[in-house]
Amino acid sequence: MDEVSYVLRALVGEVGEKVLMLLLEHEEGLDDEEIAEKLGLRINDVRRALYELAKMGFVEQQRIARGELARHSYRWRTDKGMIARALLQRKRATLKKLEERLAVEESSVLYLCPIDGYRYTFDEAFENYFTCPRCGSDLIEINNEEIKKVLRQLVDKLREEIARDEAALSRSV
Ligand SMILES: [Zn+2]
Repeated sequence: MDEVSYVLRALVGEVGEKVLMLLLEHEEGLDDEEIAEKLGLRINDVRRALYELAKMGFVEQQRIARGELARHSYRWRTDKGMIARALLQRKRATLKKLEERLAVEESSVLYLCPIDGYRYTFDEAFENYFTCPRCGSDLIEINNEEIKKVLRQLVDKLREEIARDEAALSRSV
């Protein structure tokens, strides 16, 4: 878990990470009170963390009948496969955002007034004959090659990572 631990903490926070690690040690599941007690945390903090974890697919809730009175209670559980699939989901969502951002960067040309610093889209610059409507200076094209380069590198890296994760998950099924 070490190499994903850092990613996990960024995603689920410190409390979320503690809850996940505890649940991994108790694959039969624990209820929220047991989790709070074992971790020495406030029940409300634990519930908030569980809710966030469930929303991202890192944990699931199980309804269990207890005793003869059939009182129902809920347990939370997870396993390594569930965590791996949830992480993969987050990576796919991140990749989608990066691809969208890259598409915007690739299709947009921005123009800058060197005198007052105002920025214009291509259409705005075109309508004003590539001069600043505020001060009349010639507009200059802003170079976003650096941003595009960084975005492409991130997209490539994430695509490779996702392909690796998918292969690992399909082997473990
Ligand atoms: Zn200007």
